[in-house]
Amino acid sequence: MGRDVNIQSDRLDRSAPRDGFARTIDYLRLSVTDRCNLRCRYCMPEEGVDRISHEEVMHFEEIVTLIRAAVNVGFHRIRLTGGEPLVRRDFTMLVRMIRDIEGITDLTMTTNGVLLEEKALELYAAGIQRVNISLDTLVREKFLQITRRDEFDAVMRGIDAALTAGMYPVKINVVLIRDFNDDEIFDFIELTRDRPLSVRFIEYMPTNGAQAWKSDMIVPMDELLTTIETRHKLEKLDKRSGAGPSVDYTIPGFSGTLGFITPVSSHFCDRCNRIRVTSDGRIRSCLFSDDEAHILPLLREGKDLMVIGDFILNVLKNKPKRHSITSGRIRTCQRSMSEIGG
Ligand code: SAM
Repeated sequence: MGRDVNIQSDRLDRSAPRDGFARTIDYLRLSVTDRCNLRCRYCMPEEGVDRISHEEVMHFEEIVTLIRAAVNVGFHRIRLTGGEPLVRRDFTMLVRMIRDIEGITDLTMTTNGVLLEEKALELYAAGIQRVNISLDTLVREKFLQITRRDEFDAVMRGIDAALTAGMYPVKINVVLIRDFNDDEIFDFIELTRDRPLSVRFIEYMPTNGAQAWKSDMIVPMDELLTTIETRHKLEKLDKRSGAGPSVDYTIPGFSGTLGFITPVSSHFCDRCNRIRVTSDGRIRSCLFSDDEAHILPLLREGKDLMVIGDFILNVLKNKPKRHSITSGRIRTCQRSMSEIGG
C-alpha cells in the first residue's frame, strides 16, 4: 500500500507519455467483453465464433488496476468497448469503479445501442457523459440483414434515451460501404437537422471479420464531400487539440454535426494517440499490428502499479509508426473488431 501511495505522488503531474515517434499517447480503449448481441456481417460470423473463456476475461478489479496504472503513467482518456459492453453483467458497476479513479478526464463508451434504452440513465449517473452508437442503416430490413438481429427499433430508442439522459455529444458511427449503404448518406444527415447528434462516416477497414473487404468498397472522403455538397453547404469545424481523428463539419441551421473518419484512404497514424486492450488483457498498440503484449498475467500475479505502468510504457516504445493498408501491401489484422474492441 505504502508503495502504491509513493507511486502516485512520484507521478503527480501525470503528463501523458510519448511513444517511440514522439506521439503523445493518452487514450486507452478497453474491451470489457468479446460477446455481442448483434452479428454484423463484416465483423462477426453467425456461428463458430472463438470465444474468450470466462477464466481469461479480465475481472473488474483487474480492469480497474490496469486503468489506474495507465492513469499513473499519464493516460487521461478511457473508452469502454467490446464486443458489446452492455452485455457484460454489472457493466454500470464497472463504470462507477472506473469513474472513481482520480486523473481520468474523459470516460466514454462505444455501443450498438440495443440495450441503451434501459441503461442510459443509470450509465449517465454512473459517469458515462457521452457515447458513440454504431448504426449502419436507417432501414429496418437492412439492419436485420447487416446485423442478423431484428433490433433496429431498440437502437433508435437507445439513441433517444441517450439524448434524454443528457449524454453529450451522442455520436452515431456509420461504417459506409459502397453500393450497400452509401444511398443512405442524406438520410443520416437528416438525423442532425433537429437533434444534436454527431453523425460520423467511417471507412470500412480490412479486419479479420471483414472477409468480403475490397478497397473499392470504400467511399473516400473527397467523394463523400462532393456528393453532400450537391445538396448542402458544409462548414468545416475547427479541431480541438487532442480531439479524435474525425474531420468535422456542420450544415448551417442544423443542430448536429457531421464527421469523416478515414483510416484507410488517408490514415491519421501521425496523430495516433491510443492503445487498445482486449478483454483478455492483451495490449495492442496498433489496430493493424497483431503484436500483443499480454498484461493479464501481471494483473493476476498482483504486481504493483509501478510494474504494470512500466509494462504499458514499454509497449508504447514498440508502437508502429503507421499501418500499411495504404502502402501497397494490404495487411489485414488477424482479429475481428469484436475481439479487439472497436
Ligand atoms: N458493440 C459495440 C458497437 O457496436 O459499437 C462496440 C464494438 S464494435 C466492434 C465497434 C465498431 O467497430 C462498430 O462501430 C463497428 O461498426 C466497427 N467495425 C467493426 N468491423 C469494422 C470494419 N471492418 N471496418 C470498420 N469498422 C468496423
